[in-house]
Amino acid sequence: MKITIKEYKARRIVNKHKYLDSWFWTRYSAHPYIGCVHGCEYCYTREEKYAPYDDPADFVRTIKVKTNAPTLLQKELPRFPRDLISIGDWQPIEKRYRLSRRMLQVCHDLKFPVFILEKSDLVVQDLNLLRQMASKDITVLTGFSIITTKDDKTRRLFEPGAPSVKNRFNAMRKFARAGLYTGTALIPVLPYIYDDDENLEEVIERTKRSGGQYVLVGSLTLGRRQREWFYDALRRYDPSLLQHYEQLYDHNTAYAPHPNYVADLGRRVEKLCAKYGLRDRIPRPIPSNHLLAFNMRVAEILYDRAYRLTLKGVTGFREFALRKAGRIVDSQSQDLSDVLEKEGRAGLRAIHGIGPKLSAEIESAILEAKAEVHDRSDRAKVFSYSALLSF
Ligand code: SF4
Repeated sequence: MKITIKEYKARRIVNKHKYLDSWFWTRYSAHPYIGCVHGCEYCYTREEKYAPYDDPADFVRTIKVKTNAPTLLQKELPRFPRDLISIGDWQPIEKRYRLSRRMLQVCHDLKFPVFILEKSDLVVQDLNLLRQMASKDITVLTGFSIITTKDDKTRRLFEPGAPSVKNRFNAMRKFARAGLYTGTALIPVLPYIYDDDENLEEVIERTKRSGGQYVLVGSLTLGRRQREWFYDALRRYDPSLLQHYEQLYDHNTAYAPHPNYVADLGRRVEKLCAKYGLRDRIPRPIPSNHLLAFNMRVAEILYDRAYRLTLKGVTGFREFALRKAGRIVDSQSQDLSDVLEKEGRAGLRAIHGIGPKLSAEIESAILEAKAEVHDRSDRAKVFSYSALLSF
């Protein structure tokens, strides 16, 4: 396929998320290319808001290159409080432009913590720089997106231009041996194709063998344009599945599958991760010297509780309230354990947005986090290198 490259100068590069991403713990993102030759048929970035192409097929054929990405990053990043940034893109064009490498160098120089999620093993070419960052106590959190270990010919129907799964696990192994915290994003699980126990277990088992420390599962979400595109691929694979998808996505009106499906998938991965001694959530990197480290951990507990509720099929008010509590705790500039100690629950209730129910949830999370502080070694066990130490 002929690839067209369009170079241009972007106006800005850092995207600040409205809310903290409670899956990957990122607060920012910055990527140097638009469009992707890996061409995954399920890719959510095919939606117009991420990839503004008139013809959706151009997402794979026309790669837009933000040639000034590192310069912009250098200018913009110092303005933001330090927190994880999802960065780079190691699709083949990176060999020519090296923009992701130069962006990493900026993060290195500014001591800015990074998160990298890749399908491409090309990222290994920058392992030395990542290792250097970790050795200087700059947080480096990594992961590889892997949805199946089954027959590669079928997988290529859904990820036609992406590197092989074998190469991704090899890259993971190299990262793990270099001491980087890494694992698998089993996202998105394609219903009725890759959601069987055998596939889930094999991905988890190979993650373990490759030195990964977590497997995060997520179901397929379907936006408008993405749904049309993915359904074409589904027709080529097995048209009889279309009616099942239609039902699972509430007659094609829902963005996500039915909550019971999501809960069941999450529970199975939770169980399998426990079997292999892996985590099914990424532990939040919390710098030990951060003034609000305690609040960060309390927010993490609240987000984790919300996630565990979804595994029980609870997606209503309580789950929403826990996430809201996480967001509020994370936005505070005072240590909430001090507030609780000096003013009791009334002090928590005085914070904007916290009512009696949320204050009880937050108090209980504070007590859980406090209990951990007495056992710092337990927290240290979570992370294999000092850049991710907490408390
Ligand atoms: S690797 Fe696949 S899922 Fe990721 S951006 Fe590229 S096309 Fe989308």
